[in-house]
Amino acid sequence: MDREEEFLKLVEEVKKCSKCRLYKTRKNVVVGDGPLNSLIMLVGEAPGYWEDQQGKPFVGAAGKFLNKLLDLAGLDRGKVYITNVVKCRPPGNREPKPDEIEACKPYLDKQLNLIQPKIVCALGNFATSYLLQKYGFPIQSMGKIHGKIFETKNLKIIPLYHPATALYKPPMKKVLEEDWKTIGLKLKSLI
Ligand code: URA
Ligand code: SF4
Repeated sequence: MDREEEFLKLVEEVKKCSKCRLYKTRKNVVVGDGPLNSLIMLVGEAPGYWEDQQGKPFVGAAGKFLNKLLDLAGLDRGKVYITNVVKCRPPGNREPKPDEIEACKPYLDKQLNLIQPKIVCALGNFATSYLLQKYGFPIQSMGKIHGKIFETKNLKIIPLYHPATALYKPPMKKVLEEDWKTIGLKLKSLI
C-alpha cells in the first residue's frame, strides 16, 4: 500500500472510531484537512461546534482568526495540514480528558508519520504538551515558550497560543499576530 492509500485508509478508520466516549455525542469526526505532502502541520486541541457540524478543522470563530494569522505569516491554508489532538468534539467544548487524548493519540502519531512535515505548529497547551513530551522536551509554560523553535532530527516544533485565546483575551491578539509574523519571516530558513 502506498502512502496515499494509507492516508485514505486512516481517514476511513478514524471516521468510524468509537474508542472513547466522545463518539457518542459527535456529529462528525474531524480527521484533518490539507494535502499529504504538506511541509507544515498545525495541531489544535479539539473540534468545536462548527467543526463538528462540518467535519472540518478550524472553520468557526477561532478558524477565522487562524486564517488571518496564516495570512500574516504568508502561508497558504491550502498547503498546510490542519488537525487536532482529539478528533471528536467534547460536549459543550469542554477540555479533552486525559483518557480521551490517550485513546485518540495514535491517529495524530499516524498523521505525523505519513505526512512527515518539517514543521509542526502546536496551537495551545494540549497540542504543545503532547508534542513536546512525545519528542522528549520538558514541558514549560506557554508564556515562556510561545514562538520558540524546538528542533528534533527531522522536525521543528513551534508552540503557539491557541488562536481562540485572542477571542476571550483581546490583548493576546497582538501577541499571536507578532508570533505568526515572526514565523513567517523565518519560514524559508526553517523548511
Ligand atoms: N479549536 C481547535 O482547537 N480546533 C478546531 O478545529 C477548532 C477550534
Ligand atoms: Fe475515536 Fe478520537 Fe473520536 Fe475518541 S475522539 S471516538 S478516540 S476519533
